[in-house]
Amino acid sequence: MAFTFKHGDRPLEDYTVHRGVGRGGFGEVYYAISDGGREVALKYLRENPEVELRGVSHCINLKSPHLVTIFDVRKNADDDFFIVMEYVSGPSLRDLLVAEPGGLGVQKAAFFLRELAKGLSYLHDRGIVHRDLKPGNIFYDDGYVKIGDYGLSKFISASRHSVQTASVGTVHYMAPEVGSGNYSRGIDIYALGVILYEMLLGKVPFEGGSAGEVLMKHLTAQPEVDHLPAPFGAVIRKALAKDPNARYQTIDEMMNDVFDVDDVRNSLVGFNPTSLSQAAARVARDLPDSPVPSPYPPPPPPVPAFALAADAGVAGAGVGRLGPVGPPPYPAAGFARPDELTPEAAAGNLRYAGFWIRVVSAFIDIVIVGLIGALFGEQATGGLIILYQGLLVGLWNGQTLGKRACDIKVICSDGRPCGVGRAFGRAFAKFLNVLTMFIGYMIIWFDDRKQGLHDHVAGTMVVYTVPRA
Ligand code: ATP
Ligand code: MG
Repeated sequence: MAFTFKHGDRPLEDYTVHRGVGRGGFGEVYYAISDGGREVALKYLRENPEVELRGVSHCINLKSPHLVTIFDVRKNADDDFFIVMEYVSGPSLRDLLVAEPGGLGVQKAAFFLRELAKGLSYLHDRGIVHRDLKPGNIFYDDGYVKIGDYGLSKFISASRHSVQTASVGTVHYMAPEVGSGNYSRGIDIYALGVILYEMLLGKVPFEGGSAGEVLMKHLTAQPEVDHLPAPFGAVIRKALAKDPNARYQTIDEMMNDVFDVDDVRNSLVGFNPTSLSQAAARVARDLPDSPVPSPYPPPPPPVPAFALAADAGVAGAGVGRLGPVGPPPYPAAGFARPDELTPEAAAGNLRYAGFWIRVVSAFIDIVIVGLIGALFGEQATGGLIILYQGLLVGLWNGQTLGKRACDIKVICSDGRPCGVGRAFGRAFAKFLNVLTMFIGYMIIWFDDRKQGLHDHVAGTMVVYTVPRA
């Protein structure tokens, strides 16, 4: 899906767009430069949500190094709304979690927690509840952990934030009481607990195949924290208490429990977040100020209506996470530039296709290959299947017709689109799997990461995007 604006466009007086950065639930984010030369992030509120400007002034006048500064909220001649904010060149916590799928380790997690707490306390002290705290809205830049998109959902009445319309990616950080509509800063403390868990373990505490399933776990299940070192297990359990009254009442209370423990405090003595800085510098260096030719295949041809509906769901589902990605079997690519990621990965909304959905898509593909074979008088041989799989996955944005029908996609383990070479490698590995033993086709390594043997070999994963309910 292309961005609405391209390099050189001036969708808003005084600002020239240089490139698209990414998309979320509210809109598209662009790197833009003002006529005066200031670098900004322009968030274009797609889908023209109703913007309730009364609440905005509470947020745009906040000043803290722990917050992504909002410069202005503006409307253009077409009545489109834009949020003009500080451009953060460093990686988001989501980027860091993608780069370290097994978790960040205690030291970095404690560092992020401590710094995040400063920004959150600042907001809570001013009576502002973030409401959308998640790794995609947390950045590391130049020594500071910065929180973005604070208070946004308060003045944008986007229905995606209602529990009824949430997709699976949007509910991982959502406290149980959000559904009741009666909540306060306890929901941020809950989200902070989820983020702490994810930073330590590389996955969120409650996962599921649908938004309803995740919500149900938020309401009923207990996080598995037994194997975490003290005090993290107890802290997470209390931050994730179902009853907001049983939760920490303030961020300070939570931080005291964490940093009263000598081991945690000591782990931060002399901690120099240089690795984060280096990562930030690398990402910043990589960022062009104008679009560069993409090394990846061109966007897919016009897609059938059912696929468009599914894509809309992806774009709309900004709140979320990248599922636990197995260690790539090839050299880790470091941080992918957000604009190099597939839209699903950029929006942090990925989940693995389940066993049966893969079976259905494979069945559809086999029928199609069989029909092609029959039509051209050929046998539906392995070679034809490899050709079909490799060409379509590699050239057609990760999808064969069967996958497209099932709304699943093959992308690389680092969230980038799958090139022709890797698509052929995957198809060939799949063929070998079938030849050697059927079980290897889909089941071996089909663990919680839902990676088939062939995906593991080729360093790909099969993503299942979730249309908006
Ligand atoms: P949500 O809409 O719930 O906030 P999101 O955070 O995934 O979801 P956006 O906030 O629209 O989506 O952000 C889209 C992309 O733009 C993300 O990759 C994010 O890292 C990037 N981004 C957002 N704000 C900034 C900023 N101020 N500076 C640099 N990049 C940003
Ligand atoms: Mg955001």
